[in-house]
Amino acid sequence: MSEVFNFCAGPAMLPTPVMAKAQKEFIDWSNTGCSVMELSHRSAIYIEMAAQAEADLRDLMAIPENYKVLFCHGGGRGQFSAVPLNLLPEGKSADYIVDGSWSKAAAAEAKNFGNVNVISIREEHGDGEVSLTPSDKWPLNSDAAYVHYCPNETVDGIEINEIPDTHGVPLVADMSSTILSHEVDVTKFGLIYAGAQKNIGPSGLTIVIVREDLLGNAQKATPCIMNYKTTADNDSMYNTPPTYAWYLAGLVFQWLKEIGGVKAIAKLNQAKAELLYNAIDSSDFYQNNIESQYRSKMNITFWLKDESLNKQFLTQAEEHGLMALKGHRSVGGMRASLYNAMPIEGVQALVNFMQKFEKGNR
Ligand SMILES: *Cc1c(COP(=O)(O)O)cnc(C)c1O
Repeated sequence: MSEVFNFCAGPAMLPTPVMAKAQKEFIDWSNTGCSVMELSHRSAIYIEMAAQAEADLRDLMAIPENYKVLFCHGGGRGQFSAVPLNLLPEGKSADYIVDGSWSKAAAAEAKNFGNVNVISIREEHGDGEVSLTPSDKWPLNSDAAYVHYCPNETVDGIEINEIPDTHGVPLVADMSSTILSHEVDVTKFGLIYAGAQKNIGPSGLTIVIVREDLLGNAQKATPCIMNYKTTADNDSMYNTPPTYAWYLAGLVFQWLKEIGGVKAIAKLNQAKAELLYNAIDSSDFYQNNIESQYRSKMNITFWLKDESLNKQFLTQAEEHGLMALKGHRSVGGMRASLYNAMPIEGVQALVNFMQKFEKGNR
């Protein structure tokens, strides 16, 4: 089989060395004679592995002592419910910044559990260019319980690079598609969450990083498996955690540390994104309409000017081993997800194909 590069937005490709290691120890992990997925989450050997994974993530993101790291079920959307259930008491409201489809969905779900103030920051300019309101101009509510935003909109290909200053109101970020892609100052956040299947591991696992003082005020109706305090007090093992996904996430964390950590991968991610955006911008055959400072480095959307060629583009891309480039159905066009596991060779192969396709279809 010739080399394949998978640009899927999620579940996304995993680092090849991680997959090889997982395969090697699939049926006999750590000399137990069992697969890691066949072991009790209460066994000493599993607990040791789980704790190491957490320690490695803390190390990678420089997570301070006064933050809990939770390994949860339910994906990003599970957190759309869990965040208001845990952090939005009756009588208060929360600010929801909307810049794309995931933040919009998060706000819609939160409305089921409390008062939500939706702040749309998307601006469409006359020439069709998409831009955002800068964070210092957001009309935030000073007595909000928290401010929720999505720094990287996976579907729309939009990224907010600056960390908004919320003047003491806890900042909650859906980092599902950007966690570990570049360095962030965790102390600026009250809570960070991320579904694993973009930049961490397989689906089924969700990471929550939460400042301790925000625990313990959950709404009465909060299901126990969504209660952050219950989860924290039980080291994320109140019920059976997604044990195999946790193990694979641990392997990804180890891999990332071995290749130089978040700082090193951020450099590579920058180079990958520049390579593709330069190819799009230097051609009048392809286009991207997002103002350059808000372009995502993880999920790069682009359109063929002649959309009647879309199908042909996708078919021929697959023949070249370039998979899953179709844009989300709500946006159309193409999308290339360049998560940490995507090597720069994959981006180069995509750029080469795009140039070849353009020549053949002018
Ligand atoms: C993928 C994604 C989600 C949804 O994740 P699920 O695990 O499918 O619930 C939420 N937010 C963002 C930013 C995402 O990229």
